[in-house]
Amino acid sequence: MNATHPMPSVIDLRAEPGQIRCFDPATREPLGLVPVDDPEQVRQAIARAREAQIGWGETSFALRRRVLRRVADSILDRVDDLVELIVRDSGKTRENALMGEIWTVLEKLRWTIANGPRHLRPERVSSGLLMHKRARLEYHPLGVIGAIIPWNYPLQNIMNPLIPALMAGNGFVVKPSEWVAWSARPFVQLVRDALAAEGQSPELVQVVQGYGETGQALIEGGVDSLVFIGSVVNGRRVLEAAAKTITPVILELGGKDPFIVCDDADLPQAAHAALAGCFISAGQNCVAAERLLVLDAVYDDFERMVGQLVAGFRQGDPRGPEPVDVGAMVTPMQLDIVERLVSRAVEQGARVVAGGKRVLGERGDFFAPTVLADVTPEMEIMREETFGPVMLLCRVRDEHHAVEVANSTGYGLSSSVFSRDRDRARRIAARLQAGMTAINEFGGMTYMAQDLTFGGVKESGFGRINGREGLRACCNVKAVLDDRLPVGFANKLFPVARGDFERIKGAVRLVYGHGLRRRIAGVGDLLRALKDGER
Ligand code: NAD
Repeated sequence: MNATHPMPSVIDLRAEPGQIRCFDPATREPLGLVPVDDPEQVRQAIARAREAQIGWGETSFALRRRVLRRVADSILDRVDDLVELIVRDSGKTRENALMGEIWTVLEKLRWTIANGPRHLRPERVSSGLLMHKRARLEYHPLGVIGAIIPWNYPLQNIMNPLIPALMAGNGFVVKPSEWVAWSARPFVQLVRDALAAEGQSPELVQVVQGYGETGQALIEGGVDSLVFIGSVVNGRRVLEAAAKTITPVILELGGKDPFIVCDDADLPQAAHAALAGCFISAGQNCVAAERLLVLDAVYDDFERMVGQLVAGFRQGDPRGPEPVDVGAMVTPMQLDIVERLVSRAVEQGARVVAGGKRVLGERGDFFAPTVLADVTPEMEIMREETFGPVMLLCRVRDEHHAVEVANSTGYGLSSSVFSRDRDRARRIAARLQAGMTAINEFGGMTYMAQDLTFGGVKESGFGRINGREGLRACCNVKAVLDDRLPVGFANKLFPVARGDFERIKGAVRLVYGHGLRRRIAGVGDLLRALKDGER
């Protein structure tokens, strides 16, 4: 449990020792108990994945692609069941489950099946001065990759690191968040079934359940690499634990993404992108548009536009008879955080344009879709991740001021810029300290272009999980120097002879000397050294 978070006020996950009490956040209905794995069970899960990986690491790309294709097929065949699992465990809307989880996972599968082999085949590179040699990079599996993941995307968070891990020939052990433990096993089972159907051991993919202790056990249990997706606070703890075993880590942490609306932006386009940025998954999105920086000249119009749109939003149980725009908060802790940040901002002078409070408390954990205006960069809500259905409108003087405010937090995950002037938008984009920037689009959409990488800078973490870099992050990128010619040359460095020093100096000046004069001097050194050697 995160030290900065209070215990949930309504449901105590840990009420049954050794179990996780799972519940539907939109109704508080119990979903069942999930047993917690102790450190020994975590070690055994890693061992099972490791044994299965020995064979898997030798399989062809064609076979790996067939397995991933089966996963895609079974997701498509079971869309309604999977959406139901996601919605019950997270309280998000059915549409969000479909677009933010099913669609994104299918796109990652499609991209990986189509492009994986191309990025993972051995790659010839220059051998530099070693003309008698060939050089290449080989992409070998690391072994077993562990993943510790959060609660905001129950399906997508599992598949996101799993797909590249498997394509690159690794085993995989995932520790889902305790808040969405209920749906994790059936999601992982999809992949295990696909492996078995292709004659491979389903043990290659494991799920271990529990709290922070289980996450620590996964790191200490000897995985070969770890992907941590979660908060900055726990990212630090993960780094500390990984330091003990020198386990390489990719950290995908929080964000406070800026969304800049210039005075020449297409306002309706920007407004709808802002709605997506702030209210997809009730804002519980690492790449949510957390700070809208709107230029003074269009601020009032923009506020009116988004205010009217959000005032018409419907909220409630996503499984009810009518569609809703915004569902529940996944965790009561996050609801407490959002409530605290919003009420402090209002105390400090922010103006509530829509929402602003907890609602439907008798049914579940809901926060009303909220628009706060007159928010200033000094407010706590402009620095701390809100991770809720809250749009913050901050007035900025001009594009320079927008960039200054955008870069003023500790985070650097994604970002968005809206302007009709492409050069201006690109100029602003280039100055944003972020791992991703979208121009005239909500920044989270970069995920849908899987050739692009995904990851942050500053406190948003390091390492990349999408695209070529994401696939290769699952590999031991091995540098191989091989023979070019059937005959070899003995590289005789020992015993050191008189004149060797001068000869090497001459060679260095000849090769690296800038300009003809220096090179000629190098040749002179070499000739002198050779002559001395003959005496
Ligand atoms: P969290 O840090 O509380 O938990 C994440 C995971 O870490 C959970 O599985 C949890 O059980 C585990 N954990 C907790 N303490 C641990 C410890 N000491 N050692 C090892 N594991 C531990 O995060 P959360 O509240 O579940 O998720 C919300 C956070 O995740 C937000 O900050 C959000 O921005 C971030 N996030 C980032 C990305 C990204 O790609 N950058 C994606 C989604 C969410």
